[in-house]
Amino acid sequence: DYKPGGYHPASRGELYNNGRYILVRKLGWGHFSTVWLAKDTVSNAHVAMKVVRSDKVYTEAALDEIKLLKRVSSSDGFLEGFCEASKHILSLLDNFTHTGPNGKHVVMVFEVLGENLLALIKKYEHRGIPTMYVKQIAKQLLLGLDYMHRKCGVIHTDIKPENVLMEVGDVEAIVKMVELLDKQKRDQRKVHRRATRTSIETPTATAVSSRSSTSGSRERVSGRRLRRHTLITGSQPLPSPLSSTNFFEIKAQMMGQSLPRPMPTTPKTNVSAGEEEQATNSLSSMEISNTTGDDRTEEELRTDSDVIQVKIADLGNACWFDEHYTNSIQTREYRSPEVIIGCEWGASADIWSAACLIFELLTGDFLFEPDEGHSYSKDDDHIAQIVELLGEIPSQLLRTGRHARSFFNSRGQLRNISKLKFWPLKDVLREKYKFPEEEAQTISEFLLPMLRLNPSERADAGGMVNHPWLNDTVGLEGVQLSERQLYGSGADIPGWYREVAGHPRH
Ligand code: ADP
Ligand code: MG
Repeated sequence: DYKPGGYHPASRGELYNNGRYILVRKLGWGHFSTVWLAKDTVSNAHVAMKVVRSDKVYTEAALDEIKLLKRVSSSDGFLEGFCEASKHILSLLDNFTHTGPNGKHVVMVFEVLGENLLALIKKYEHRGIPTMYVKQIAKQLLLGLDYMHRKCGVIHTDIKPENVLMEVGDVEAIVKMVELLDKQKRDQRKVHRRATRTSIETPTATAVSSRSSTSGSRERVSGRRLRRHTLITGSQPLPSPLSSTNFFEIKAQMMGQSLPRPMPTTPKTNVSAGEEEQATNSLSSMEISNTTGDDRTEEELRTDSDVIQVKIADLGNACWFDEHYTNSIQTREYRSPEVIIGCEWGASADIWSAACLIFELLTGDFLFEPDEGHSYSKDDDHIAQIVELLGEIPSQLLRTGRHARSFFNSRGQLRNISKLKFWPLKDVLREKYKFPEEEAQTISEFLLPMLRLNPSERADAGGMVNHPWLNDTVGLEGVQLSERQLYGSGADIPGWYREVAGHPRH
């Protein structure tokens, strides 16, 4: 991928935009780009620079991304009642092009954020994040989506954990720590090299794997069809809430404690080189202190006023309510039924993905994790899993879906999978994930309206902000959107379930 047309081989100390930005270190990467920490010599603050692959398709997509970012970054939100919401979308600070050995790259400059939510899911070892944090993330995500859909006419189309990033608080102080740690690491490597006299390092450039934003394959705990039929028996002790979540440790450090000592890197298992790279690059995932374990209760955490702030990032696949760029949208596990079946789709597709994401935060598992078998495709399996959880696909989708015939026979039954075992969401939460009866009921009442199979009927983000489950969200207790109705569908939002036709190009 580091070849002409591909990623830019950036290096420490490299200058960008006529010397305005100085590159410091890598922060992350995605299918389209590599993302770097850089120092802005004009504002004297640090920024995140997204350097896009130089191929024509990526460049064109990046230019669209910039237009979309400019739309959501405009300050209108603050003036027009979306003040809280527009805070939850990553805003663009600058953009320019940069020429390197692999071609001309579009570069976008953003504020620096911390880890993405996949890193958080991993830190809780795929056993689910404490509900109090999930509520904060869910409410902010819904506020952000409501703003995008209702105010900006923008559809994200790739809502997933990797594309929602956490804030880190005092960026400059964290950068200081990170630079210190990077230097220590470099020094250690030098010593190690001298000691072994062999080079065991893989250059950073080759450590990037080819994970695609729309293929979404990643290692998870289970991967079989009908996995929901397998109950995990025996007790599954949860890790103490903060024992492995350095994000919070850094925040604690930020609250006036002295500079921490780095921790020896613990060996990780089952992580590909690319993922490990991803997992250890972000600012907030740096190992910064001896992890002594933390057995504070959720109640005590609450009094620490630890407020997670998240922002929706990566508009690289986003589009307009009246101008869709492609029908191949969404990463597999977060893909909505209308998109799989080939029906019309709109902003409500994001709501489906958001519900999948919230389930994943609560449980650590994908809501749907389709796989192909001898006699059925991934799509077959995906639809089967959806039906098992949510019931029959509405006839309207079967009538209008371009691919409906290849999945369903004339009686509306799946052609390639005959044995379905229905297992409603509430029961899955109770039986598989051991949520208490009442909580399972509430969570399922919260998620199901966002998982309505008919995209036109799906609950809209703004209405869901008003859900009772989110009433006690730390930091957002009073936040309600009186103009939106709980469980109401976004049918009044232009482009809610289909592209609005007849508009000029953006
Ligand atoms: P792509 O379009 O290539 O997927 P993203 O915008 O999703 O690019 O960025 C890739 C990764 O880089 C993200 O998952 C995240 O880990 C990291 N990243 C992106 N933007 C920032 C930022 N502003 N601050 C810190 N890390 C970021
Ligand atoms: Mg991405």
